[in-house]
Amino acid sequence: MIALGIEGTAHTVGVGVVDDACEVLANVSRVYQPKKGGIHPREAANHHAEHTAPLIREALDAAGIDRTDVDLVAFSQGPGLGPCLRTVATGARALAVVLDRPLVGVNHCVAHLEIGRAVTDAQDPVLLYASGGNTQVISFLNGRYRVFGETLDIGVGNMLDKLGRALGMPFPAGPIIEKRAKDGRTLLDLPYSVKGMDVAFSGMLTAALQHREKGARVEDICLSVQETAYAMLTEVSERAMAHVEKEELLLGGGVACNRRLQEMGETMATERGARSFAPPKPLCVDNGAMIAWTGLVMFRAGERLRVEASGVHQRMRTDDRPAPWAEA
Ligand code: AMP
Ligand code: MG
Repeated sequence: MIALGIEGTAHTVGVGVVDDACEVLANVSRVYQPKKGGIHPREAANHHAEHTAPLIREALDAAGIDRTDVDLVAFSQGPGLGPCLRTVATGARALAVVLDRPLVGVNHCVAHLEIGRAVTDAQDPVLLYASGGNTQVISFLNGRYRVFGETLDIGVGNMLDKLGRALGMPFPAGPIIEKRAKDGRTLLDLPYSVKGMDVAFSGMLTAALQHREKGARVEDICLSVQETAYAMLTEVSERAMAHVEKEELLLGGGVACNRRLQEMGETMATERGARSFAPPKPLCVDNGAMIAWTGLVMFRAGERLRVEASGVHQRMRTDDRPAPWAEA
């Protein structure tokens, strides 16, 4: 079985093609770059509208298949920016109707977890999903994927990107902050906001900018933000692992590409006799392959979506529906 998936919840529009062994046959994408400031939802949607059809062609070419070889069309149904979601959903519906193939709507956060389970040795992990817009700790319990902790304000990646913008770095700032942090020498005091399994980042952003106004070195700010933010994320992940009694940590989302965060996850996991995993970068960031794969496993478990009922859900919750495909 071959599934084609279209991702389009935020800045990335991506098309992936996978087979039923989760071999990634194609995974192509384009990222909308705001000219200034953050993501403008309508402009991002226009960007996705322009690129969806060419990316579908590119993915089919890369996979070396004909569009009639596609057995299933999946798309990111939520959560995300409404205009972006609607745009890629329209593309997915059109493709499914033209090919007369089933359509599956995928929860974007669950897709980060499913692709990690498929391409690493993690089987039943706690997912630390750390991206631009989202920061959540998710795991499977009693028939559903559930959110055990999350950010109370902005996503960790969004905090890094806002900080980077204020420091004159281009988007996305996360990788640049990672590089500059290597030359950091002094750990500056920043708010460490952990409430149970939840975290908050806006106070850290404000405090980091105040350090800058007082003349702190950019490298020291980068080091301090990384150390503090990633320690917070590692702490809440560990608490969730203890709570649900699981022995695997899985990282997902763009911020999960960060070596320092991966290192902290590995140290924490090792200390508690657990293991830590992160998918390769193209499957960590927002991508079409994870949507294709999750659509495929959902379909195999009997999930069906009528085109008439395939509306998007901007605020789709991870625990909205049972996840029978994840049952051991
Ligand atoms: P996503 O929203 O999952 O596509 O991921 C995008 C986010 O990941 C942006 O906020 C980036 O700044 C962040 N990001 C990407 N690479 C890194 C990295 N190496 N370290 C920290 N953050 C990163
Ligand atoms: Mg994501």
